[in-house]
Order: sequence, then C-alpha cells, then structure tokens
Amino acid sequence: MSKITPQPGIMDIALYQGGASHIAGVTNAVKLSSNENPFGPSEAAREAYRKAGFDLHRYPSTDHAALRAAIAEVHKLDADRIICGAGSDEIITFLCQAYAGPGDEVIHTEHGFAMYRICTLAAGATPVEVPERERITDVDAILAACTARTRLVFIANPNNPTGTMVGGAELERLAAGLPEHVLLVLDGAYAEYVEGYDGGARLVDARENVVMTRTFSKLYGLGGLRIGWGYGPAHVMDVLARVRGPFNLSQSALVTAEAAVRDRAWADKCREDNTRMRAWLAEALAEHGVPSDTSCANFILARFANQAEAEACDDFLKAEGLIVRRVGGYNLPNCLRITVGDEPSCRRVAHAVGQFMKVAR
Ligand SMILES: *Cc1c(COP(=O)(O)O)cnc(C)c1O
Repeated sequence: MSKITPQPGIMDIALYQGGASHIAGVTNAVKLSSNENPFGPSEAAREAYRKAGFDLHRYPSTDHAALRAAIAEVHKLDADRIICGAGSDEIITFLCQAYAGPGDEVIHTEHGFAMYRICTLAAGATPVEVPERERITDVDAILAACTARTRLVFIANPNNPTGTMVGGAELERLAAGLPEHVLLVLDGAYAEYVEGYDGGARLVDARENVVMTRTFSKLYGLGGLRIGWGYGPAHVMDVLARVRGPFNLSQSALVTAEAAVRDRAWADKCREDNTRMRAWLAEALAEHGVPSDTSCANFILARFANQAEAEACDDFLKAEGLIVRRVGGYNLPNCLRITVGDEPSCRRVAHAVGQFMKVAR
C-alpha cells in the first residue's frame, strides 16, 4: 500500500458517467443521452469561434468584462455580481470549495444532479440526500434536513433528470426558511427552456442567501466549449472571485458565449422547437404505455414498469442506434432519460419505444 494518500472523502467519489456517444458497430447513432441542443450553437456563435482562432497566442481576459456585460444586458442583471466559469460545474466547484469543508454538510435532493455530491466530497464535506415528493423537490424535507452543520443547499430548477420544477413561491419559502448560515444554490441549467422564468434572478436580488448558476451547455448548444456563469449577492461573489483562477476561461469560449447570448432569435427558436417536440414526444411515449412527468426541460424522464423493463428497452434502443440515458445512479432505476432531439430523432425514438413495448408486455 502506498503511503501517499488523498484527502478524506476523495475515494468515496464515484467516477462521473457521461452520456455515451457511440455504439459498437453502429455508424449513425443518434445521441439523446446528454441533453445537448440538436441544432448546435447559433451561426453568430460559430462565426465568433472561428474568428477567435486568429488570436490564440494572446492570453484571455481575466475579468470577463465583455461577457458579463452581455449577460447583464440580456438578463437585466448587475454585471458586477456575475462570475463566469468553465461550465456551471466550475461554479458549483467554487461554491463547495469556498463554503464547505470537513465536518460540514451539503444538501441535495434524492434525484439531484450528480455534481453536487461529487463537488461536496471533493471539498471534504458530507453530502446529505433529502427525499423528493413524487420526483419533485420537497421544500419541507429540505428545511427539516438543515442542521447547524449545513452550509449549502443545491437544487436544480428545472431538475435533471426528473424535468420537474417548483414555482417561485416555493423557492421564496425555501430561501426564507433556511437557517441564517445556509446558502441556497439554484441551478438554472435548464432555465432557458422555461418561457418567462428568470432562473431565480429576482430572488437573488432580493436576498443575501441565494446564488443562481447558469450554463451555455444546454439551450445555447455550447457544451463542448465549457462555459457557464453564476449570479449572487456581492458578499458571495467576492468570495468566489478569490478562488477562481485568473485564466479559467479561454478567449475562444468568452467571445463565443458573448455572441451566443446576444443572439436572442436563435435562443427563442431553440426554445420553441424544444417545447413543440417535447410535447409531441411525451404524448407519443404515453400512447405506447410509457408515462412521464410534465417536463420543463429539454429531456423526458420515461417511466417503465420496473428496472428490468427499463434496461431491456435501453438495450433495444441501442440495437436500433439510439442512445438514451440510464438513471439508476439517480435513484430512478425504472426510468430512462431521453433528450428531446430534432424531429426525425424524436420520431425514431418514439417509434422504437413503441416497437419495444409491443413485445415487452
Ligand atoms: C448539464 C447540467 C449542468 C451544466 O453543466 P456545465 O458544466 O455548465 O456543462 C448543470 N446542472 C445541471 C442540473 C445540468 O443538468
């Protein structure tokens, strides 16, 4: 045994399982496993990325001022209280690193996003899993789980992989009900898909104990570029700014994200398309006997009779060249998460699930 050992908690981290992107022996697989935008980024974003290729010898901006100004303008926020990171994953990492350590507790929900637990353990703190109510965040269960050791509460709204969300009144009740020493993190990775939802920005403005995280990986179609952001009260932003590396984002990522956030027409088109195909897919699956909760995001959590049926369906889809996501690791062994793709992909996956269900029951 080596005497060189990592910090406590590190070896409790299960390696993150990304969405598969290939099937052995299949050339034209359809990837519906990582909640990516099927149309990719806007043409303006692609053009900004191409241009950035001419300046690769220059160090990037350290203060991200241009991107923060663009985000602030579009979302009507205070640019001084925005922080940008390598995906919202990095903002989650900063929050855990800055606010939680050995002996501290970090709350996430029963079907919450895997990074909350990973980043908590990486910081040496203790993750605390709280039940949901029928796959919906339960504010009372979270409040009941708070102790003197709780430092952070993470909820994604809409949540991944359930697709469900809670309303503004519930978020306010949660923020107001937390002990004074607890910071609430509202992960808005899918907020862009909800017409008229600000991701919790107004709640951040109204309080001292709420932070919002956002990403360019989903609606904006820039998952491969790694860029996200956070918005919070000044005292939290001052803390996060100290743990952020000065060159955490490439200039390519910064200018591409700026072009992306300014292209409102593309964002609106992608949201509308998703809303339309999501409704179509949910109904098609329901007609085949596969129910799902009403999704507010760009995926559907399809529920099967049991784990065996869900896994058999996944195998069947794979053989058809369709990659979806198993979510047993999220305490949902009887479900498959299916990203809303473009129309041909949605038709293919719905048809294949129908074929499977004909023989399964
Ligand atoms: C995809 C996702 C993220 C975004 O991660 P990035 O690091 O920004 O790519 C954050 N939270 C949830 C719940 C997600 O599903």
